[in-house]
Amino acid sequence: MATIIDGKLVTAKIREEIKNESAAFEKETGVKPGLAVIIVGDDPASQVYVRNKGKACEEVGFYSEIHRLPEETTEEELLSLVHSLNENEKIHGILVQSPLPKHLDEALIVNNIRYEKDVDAFHPVNVGKIMIGDYNFLPCTPAGVMELLKAYDINVCGKEVAVVGRSNIVGKPQAMLMLHANATVTICHSRTKNLSEVLNRADVVVMAIGKAKFLKADMIKEGAVVIDVGMNRDENGKLCGDIDFEECEKKASYITPVPGGVGPMTITMLMKNTLTAAKTSLEK
Ligand code: NAP
Repeated sequence: MATIIDGKLVTAKIREEIKNESAAFEKETGVKPGLAVIIVGDDPASQVYVRNKGKACEEVGFYSEIHRLPEETTEEELLSLVHSLNENEKIHGILVQSPLPKHLDEALIVNNIRYEKDVDAFHPVNVGKIMIGDYNFLPCTPAGVMELLKAYDINVCGKEVAVVGRSNIVGKPQAMLMLHANATVTICHSRTKNLSEVLNRADVVVMAIGKAKFLKADMIKEGAVVIDVGMNRDENGKLCGDIDFEECEKKASYITPVPGGVGPMTITMLMKNTLTAAKTSLEK
């Protein structure tokens, strides 16, 4: 039976560290890390994510602002808010909650966030910095996966890692972080032929495709580490990941549950990036 990687436990420990580090930083410099979150429209899932980000800021002692804009907000209005937050000294991190309503160009908005305040690490400058290994921020979900591995002393150096999914926010940066950690990385996607063959030789599998319980036990090798980024609803409407947990738990050496695995780490990494942004803002 696999060891279950407890994301809630790891997240609680890291948030405590961030809280202490932030308090010490504020005492020394008089600067309180500040995060601004912008949400446009009333998508219920996004409302929950934004509320949780506000709560996390409170928990670690950060200043936070939540800007709730109506669905009909124009690109000009949204850009004007982003530009004013870029100049706001109380704000070190800016996050625009995705998805935006269709009439707003998400890439244009992200490109207008000052990259030093882009705590999601989605700005092309930050993406490039990650590629060359010279970065301040890491994208939150892949960074959370790396922290979970670290917390359980799972070293990927020299190991075969398969990342399934190639999105800009999870799959691609995840593969890059694994590469930086000296893994031999294979990126799989919907056109990958013989996926099971690739996964069967992987020491570590990271699933990020958004397909409920897709990964079955016969697709992984005995003792593999399996990490589940997916967040889906099963046939009964229950939250589940991309991994068939019940099957894979019996064959894997380590496994992350959904909920309670990677999910809690994402917001924690956002807090870490905001603290980093506050610290680097004083370096200029
Ligand atoms: P996405 O943009 O939809 O990308 C999905 C990726 O999976 C694509 O690269 C796609 O390949 C690949 N894919 C789809 N079906 C496949 C299959 N049958 N075999 C192999 N690859 C397949 O999704 P995302 O934004 O990366 O998110 C992935 C999952 O992670 C979702 O469930 C999302 O909710 C979850 N998520 C969780 C967190 C968290 O905090 N825990 C954060 C972000 C996302 P192609 O490129 O070929 O189409």
